[in-house]
Amino acid sequence: MIAFSLEQRASRVVFGVGTLEHMSDELDRAGIKRALVLSTAAQRADAQALSDRLGGRTCGIFGDARMHTPVETTLQAVRFAQENGADGLVAVGGGSTTGLAKAVSIRTGLPQIVAPTTYAGSEMTPILGETSDGQKRTRSDPRIQPAIVIYDVALTLTLPTAASVVSGFNAIAHAVEALYAKDRNPLTDTMAVEGISAFARALPRIVRDGADLEARGEALYGAWLCGSCLGAVGMALHHKLCHVLGGLFDLPHAEMHTIILPHALAYNAPAVPNAMAAVARALQVSDGAAGLWNLSRDLGAKTALKDIGFPVARFDEAVTSALERPYWNPREITEAGIRDLLHRAVFGIAPTPADVESEKR
Ligand code: NAD
Repeated sequence: MIAFSLEQRASRVVFGVGTLEHMSDELDRAGIKRALVLSTAAQRADAQALSDRLGGRTCGIFGDARMHTPVETTLQAVRFAQENGADGLVAVGGGSTTGLAKAVSIRTGLPQIVAPTTYAGSEMTPILGETSDGQKRTRSDPRIQPAIVIYDVALTLTLPTAASVVSGFNAIAHAVEALYAKDRNPLTDTMAVEGISAFARALPRIVRDGADLEARGEALYGAWLCGSCLGAVGMALHHKLCHVLGGLFDLPHAEMHTIILPHALAYNAPAVPNAMAAVARALQVSDGAAGLWNLSRDLGAKTALKDIGFPVARFDEAVTSALERPYWNPREITEAGIRDLLHRAVFGIAPTPADVESEKR
């Protein structure tokens, strides 16, 4: 029997190719007259091009957004916004730039318009992760979620194909964990399967040809769906592991998600047969965990945490931290299970359905 409770947060989404052209209209809609444009240093030229197009509607560019939203950077951006009389924020970039917009907005009350250029999905969530004193803290507040999101497929054409693959897996991770979330509902189930399917179709085409506009469109559509899942329901073991390892070892966000996801799903498999079936259906394979591992490997992504900066000598510390303050998870967390999962992830060993088999016996 279907039973659920559902709270939907409204944000305005404009999706298509060339939609950044509508920024002026969206600024009007949001009542913004002097926008501060945010970007990373690497995407400053994009921010400048947008600012030039908007003419007198912007008051400057803050081009120093950084991964994991360091609080000191946020405070610099807040000062810059105040000194330049900004009455709103426009973010053009991936999760790091969106994170900066959220962090400035929650401190100043400035409205935000976000134009995502990766598939991380932060634009569709009320979640903000910030780092200070080497620690990452996450909070959720409806006021953090951007009011307007402009998805312009053209902005993603420059995302290198390797970065596109891992960013796509970052998005898929939100959908996979939504499929077994405690508070999932029929809408998130539908969005999750559709989001995973979109990436399974799009990513191989993007690897073949990064300029394939149709595939780029499908991937960004998947990012919207998967990000919406992340914004709507709670996450479990996979996100807990990424949070802990990212904080401890400053591992690259999307790459880490890509490597851990198949193992986290394999771990939870015995407890979530319906989610396993849904992931397998979305990927058109017989086993979801193996399907994700094969897909990432076939698309050229790294499969071992030791190859993206995980310090093998600190393995025990990683296990201990992963066991502390656990998130809700559909399957009981055991030290032996986490040790095996991390061992596979660290050394790039394929996830095994072995513990599925052993629980069946
Ligand atoms: P990112 O935003 O750090 O981007 C990585 C690099 O790619 C940057 O140098 C960026 O300038 C560049 N880049 C981005 N788009 C590009 C494009 N189209 N063309 C060329 N270069 C491009 O990486 P990310 O993976 O999108 O975001 C990671 C951050 O987002 C982490 O801090 C993570 O915690 C956060 N995040 C938060 C949420 C949330 O809901 N709060 C969700 C997902 C990710």
